[in-house]
Amino acid sequence: MKVCLFDIDGTLIRSGGAGKLAFLRTLEQAFQIEVGEPGVPFAGRTDRGIISDLFSHYGMVLSDESWNRFAEVYFDVLPICLNECKGRVLPGVESMLRQFGAAENMGVGLLTGNMVKGAEIKLRYFDLFDYFDFGGFGDQFVDRDRVAEEALATTRSYCNEQIKPENIFVIGDTPNDVRCGQFIGARTVAVCTGNYSAAELSEVSPDFVFEDLSLAQPLIEQLCAGHQNIESK
Ligand SMILES: [Mg+2]
Repeated sequence: MKVCLFDIDGTLIRSGGAGKLAFLRTLEQAFQIEVGEPGVPFAGRTDRGIISDLFSHYGMVLSDESWNRFAEVYFDVLPICLNECKGRVLPGVESMLRQFGAAENMGVGLLTGNMVKGAEIKLRYFDLFDYFDFGGFGDQFVDRDRVAEEALATTRSYCNEQIKPENIFVIGDTPNDVRCGQFIGARTVAVCTGNYSAAELSEVSPDFVFEDLSLAQPLIEQLCAGHQNIESK
């Protein structure tokens, strides 16, 4: 059996800035903060990490109460921002997911910094939600390696307790995606549809680099056929 674990933003979709806009609007609406450009990096990070940085940037304390308040408002604001920002599904994504869905012995999950419900809202908006059965998410962990461990654990409970990490492929658009995949011993696929070039992604030595996922057809076919030794390139 093979399993693919997907990042969301910059890998499956581009939200047109909806995610960041929703975060900043949530700070305004839930906490009456006047936000400018906070200078906090978003790409490849977990929501827990981003929100923690935003809170400290604006001198706020991250408690269970403030986290819950943030999440409650964010889940209301995010669909509105997705509508406003007119994002898109990235090239090759739907074809890839359809082929994996039709293949025997393929598991498809998420390894994302998004919160569980934020991931669902984004994927439902772009009609992709039903392709995914399990995953690791960014509600609890600042460190993406912990999300990767959660994704590995849920892969084992949903798909196969015995699956070896080398039969798991982590697909993402940032060096952090590649590093966290390597951390759990998975194979890694970097895609240049986010903010990083092939040269930048190659620095962290992913097994594969694609300009976009429409160029991954040979890999998709090997995965669907259950090839034992898929060579890196
Ligand atoms: Mg991403």
